[in-house]
Order: sequence, then C-alpha cells, then structure tokens
Amino acid sequence: MYTVTNPATGELVEEIENATDEEVRAAIDRVHHGYSSWRRRPIAERAEIVSRAAELFAERADELAAIMTLEMGKRINEGRGEVGIVVDIFNYYADNGPDLLADEPLRIQSGQAVIVKQPIGALLGVMPWNFPCYQVARFVAPNLVLGNTILLKHASICPRSATAIAEILYDAGVPEDAYVNTFAASRQVPGILADPRIVGVSLTGSEPAGISVATEAGRHLKKTVLELGGSDPLIVLDTHDLDDTVKACATARMRNCGQSCNAPKRMIVLADLYDDFVDRMSKHVTDFFQPGDEVAEQVRRAVAQGATLRAGGNRIEPGAYLEATVLTDVTREMDAYHEEIFGPVVTVFRAETEDEAIAIANDSPFGLGASVWGTDPHRLRRVADQIEAGMVYLNRAGGSVADLPFGGIKRSGIGRELGPAGIEEFMNKKAVRL
Ligand code: NAP
Repeated sequence: MYTVTNPATGELVEEIENATDEEVRAAIDRVHHGYSSWRRRPIAERAEIVSRAAELFAERADELAAIMTLEMGKRINEGRGEVGIVVDIFNYYADNGPDLLADEPLRIQSGQAVIVKQPIGALLGVMPWNFPCYQVARFVAPNLVLGNTILLKHASICPRSATAIAEILYDAGVPEDAYVNTFAASRQVPGILADPRIVGVSLTGSEPAGISVATEAGRHLKKTVLELGGSDPLIVLDTHDLDDTVKACATARMRNCGQSCNAPKRMIVLADLYDDFVDRMSKHVTDFFQPGDEVAEQVRRAVAQGATLRAGGNRIEPGAYLEATVLTDVTREMDAYHEEIFGPVVTVFRAETEDEAIAIANDSPFGLGASVWGTDPHRLRRVADQIEAGMVYLNRAGGSVADLPFGGIKRSGIGRELGPAGIEEFMNKKAVRL
C-alpha cells in the first residue's frame, strides 16, 4: 500500500493500492518499447525536453514543496530549496549533456579509435522519501538525456510526489513510454530485476535495501548504482569564530529534519575547543525540532549504553517529531558509534590530536561525505586527503550541487550521481576501432 500520513498530526490522508504483478509487467513493457524510439531521438531534442522539465519544476515549486511537507514533514522552505536544485540538475544535463555525450577520439598503438557514448536500455529507479524530488532528479535527468528509459518505484510514503514528477515530465514532452511511475511494492522489485527487459537499477536508500537489490541485480548480471546511508564525520581543527562554526555545523546537521544522507552526523572536535563547542551546540540546537520517529529509540539505547545526553532526546506528541538532540561520550562499544542516526541528533567526539580526529572519522563502516573545518588551507587539504569518503567539503558541510559528483565508498554505496560522472553510469562506452 502507498500511503500519505501527515507526520505533524499522524492523520492518514490517502491510501493507494500497490500495482498488481500484471500492471508491473505492463509498465516494464512500456519502458522497454519506449527505449527503441527514445534512444533514436536526436540528443538535442532530448536535451530540449529536459530543459523544459526544468522550467516546469520551477513553475510548480510551491505545489511540490507542499506535497513534500505533507508526505515527509520537511519545512516548506526546504521543499522550495529542494525544487531549486532539481531545476539546476535538469538544466545542467540539458545544457551539458550534448557535450558530455560527444564522441571521444582515442589514439591507440595500432591506429585510431573512438569512444561512442550510447544508452543501454530501460532502467529501474528505486527512490527514498527524504528528498522526494531531488533523488529522482539525480537519476532521471542524466539518463533521459543519454537516451535510457526509466521505470520509477518511489518510496511508499511519497505517492503524490511520484505522481507530480511524472506529470511534469510528460508535460515537458517526455513520451509516456520513456518514463513510467509504478506503485510496485518493494517485494515486487526482485521480479522486475529478473526481467530481461530491465538492464540496470539505481537505488537510493538504506543498506538493507541496497543489499537486497544488489543481490538480485547480481544474480541477473545487471549494472547497479547504490546511494546508501552515511554517518559523515565533521572535523573541527580550529576557528576564528566558534559561534559561527557551531551555528553552521548545527544547521548542516539539522537541515531536512536531520534526515540527509550526507549530513554531518559525527562531529569530532579537537580537545582545546571541545567543551565550548559542546556547550554552545547544546544550547543552539534547541532552536530546532524535527521529525525523528525511530530515532528516539536509538537515542534511548545510546543513553542506556552509557552516552551522555546534553540536549533534547524527547518525542514531541502528536506526530513523528523529536527534539533536536546532542550526545557525547559515545564509545566504540555502543551501537550509536557505528549506526547511521537518521534524524536530528548531533554526536560530538573529542580528539586530542589531528591524527586522532582522522582516525575517529575513518572508524566507520560508511564512507559517504565528510567535512573539515579550520583556518589553514594547507592543513585542511592535508586532513581532507586522509579521509575515507566519496566527498570531502572544506568549511562547509552537507548539501549538493548539480555539477559536482555525489556518492560514497565502503557501505555508503557504489557509483556516482551528478556532474559528468552521473551520466556515465548507465552508458555503453562503445569502443569503435577505425
Ligand atoms: P529504504 O527504506 O531503503 O527505502 C528506499 C527505497 O527502497 C524505497 O522506495 C523502498 O520502498 C525501497 N525498498 C526498501 N526495501 C527494499 C527491498 N528489500 N527491495 C527493494 N526495494 C526496497 O530507505 P529510506 O528509509 O527511504 O531512506 C533513508 C536511507 O537512504 C538513509 O539510510 C539515507 O542515508 C539513505 N540515502 C542515501 C542517499 C545517498 O545519496 N547516498 C541519499 C538519500 C538517502 P518502500 O518505501 O516501498 O519500502
């Protein structure tokens, strides 16, 4: 069942039946047949349609933001901001796609060759609820420009976002067999992956979902992109203004209700700043309160295992909200040290030296993003180069831009979205020997 439940009140707003197996098979058939004509459209035409989609997303920003707030509880302004980056992503691939897809001459020892960049077929996208529009855009915009077609299974709490996105794409001129939304249940995903008409899958979501999809895709030898969880470290080396740093770090952590994959979830502060940082962070986060249903249980468990609760920690009834929370004294023996906490919780660690800060940062099963804060650019780069992550930002944390690749290593996933890398994942880089 796809359901819309208002996280602020707990009220059930809408229920939609899952697609039947027959409907799912028909949807696969559509995107499979759609591929043969969509791939033949000139790149400039596909790019033009994607550019038109950017305009329509911009026009419908308020409506999309309201849908997202109703479905998953983010602040309405954050929803408008999310649509802003969706517009950037569609524009980026519309503007740069034709160059990114140009033939690449290659000099080889025995003569000449050229790499021709072609689509591979109909793809499945499995998307999460935390950024209902942005996650879809990261996968859909580059692949439509490339010439792949898309079957999209959105999160089961985001049916209205899923429907609105499909409408916008059709209004922009994407053929109804080049992009198809399905209300398939996650249990139907293995069947979709087993179907030879689907040639690849991109999943953004949790580790268990990633393992399940990668296992099924592997069984059928399908290309996979996985954008999974993170527990990003944020290292504070020094600062000219501790208040500003604390505010910037708290805002990055609490953005999107604390539910961003690349939010700075573990803050590692050098010893001379640690006490002041924790005090100010504990006061500052009281400005936030955020959705965080299952997260309250993770906080309770951390405290039971010996962590210190410095602020927040309480559920706010009714609805699915939690006070913004600060935890310290989290040790390796506790679950909170290793887990992703996907809600408004800051965990602060004390490091005696730069090397210890780097060691704590890397002592995680995840490797999505990271950030390093300080005043000396050489020191920032030295630390950044030692961090095990797919992305490191200096003196800023979280967020994402259309032209910068996004993705992780370790258990945070496989592959990249956005930027030039994002259009290459489901591409046949065909070597033509001249
Ligand atoms: P989720 O529970 O894994 O759901 C994500 C999507 O996968 C949903 O469409 C879900 O469908 C589907 N799904 C769940 N289990 C599945 C299975 N066994 N087989 C096939 N599909 C399955 O994740 P979430 O709670 O929505 O999202 C939060 C997670 O996503 C966090 O860990 C976050 O860090 C991560 N994330 C990562 C990135 C990144 O770029 N690396 C970005 C955003 C979020 P149903 O809704 O129908 O269950």
